[in-house]
Amino acid sequence: MKLISIQEAFRRRFERQANIPGLEYHASGHCVHIGKLSPGCYSCFAPNTLRGNFPLGSRCNRSCDYCYQTDGEDPPATQSRDGRLRKKAALLQGALRPDRHYDAVIISFTGGGEPLLHLDLLQDYMQFYRGIEPQMNVRPWYYLYTNGILADREMLMRLKEMGFDEIRFHLGASEFAGSVYRNMEEAVSILDTVTVETPAWPPHRDKLFEMLPILDELGVKHLNLGQVEITEGNRKRIAEVMPDAEIFQCYTIHLDDHGLAYDIMEDVLQKGYDFSVLDCNAFVKSIQRSPGKHLFHEGVKDLCSDVSVSGEAFCRGGIPLSAGGGDACRP
Ligand code: SF4
Repeated sequence: MKLISIQEAFRRRFERQANIPGLEYHASGHCVHIGKLSPGCYSCFAPNTLRGNFPLGSRCNRSCDYCYQTDGEDPPATQSRDGRLRKKAALLQGALRPDRHYDAVIISFTGGGEPLLHLDLLQDYMQFYRGIEPQMNVRPWYYLYTNGILADREMLMRLKEMGFDEIRFHLGASEFAGSVYRNMEEAVSILDTVTVETPAWPPHRDKLFEMLPILDELGVKHLNLGQVEITEGNRKRIAEVMPDAEIFQCYTIHLDDHGLAYDIMEDVLQKGYDFSVLDCNAFVKSIQRSPGKHLFHEGVKDLCSDVSVSGEAFCRGGIPLSAGGGDACRP
């Protein structure tokens, strides 16, 4: 693998962006996309403290080359009961503050593993949040990530009963398996929002392009293209698969995809597919994880579907806010 300068990596990306008319720019340029994003993406770009992402455990039924975990690593213990309760309490406290300005409450589940292998824990969290919704003034947006292998009809019905709004399929994990496409088709008929979140991994190039018309036909709403992060856990595996890989440092180390994400976006624009596309790259991680956005940030009220900051999708029988934000929806 070859480490390239940040100037070279950024120059390539910015030049590629500049050559594609039709891209949209938000969050002071950190968010480059096509179409309205999932409501679950809102808090990555806004200084929203009402967001809880709960890792459920690192056990997984796949072994992706780019998985950032170390081979043979023992799954760490799932979060302690005390830790979970503290996190729940902090979110509840924030959501109940009478003086708070409107922010979407977003609850998601991931874990560096497969969340659907931890159904009891998932159920436990969901019961807690569904139970306190009457006190929250706004209904949270609930979503989870999965590699999709276990997301059959029965599982999807359980997720629907638990209250999930969105499911995000990591299609690359199964090498774009037909069975996972079938699960996605079921998901579109059961849940409000189906998203594909999979990395712009160069060895998947052909399968990524084959995927695009299928997503459009199935009615998938969003496509998030991640940028592979290089870690101690995956560096050897990636070097074996891509010995000529070029990597760069932008806080953490990332794989340069040689324009793959923008080749895909260009194709989506040309073919006029209906789903949104987000280049979920190092810049997104940078603004998502940075405290800087709490000091200054560009408003992102038009960025997401359903939950513009007016937040109608989150009001349960409440009076929607005027566009431009303000207080929480009042029941
Ligand atoms: S599905 Fe996710 S957690 Fe599982 S091996 Fe692949 S990248 Fe890792």
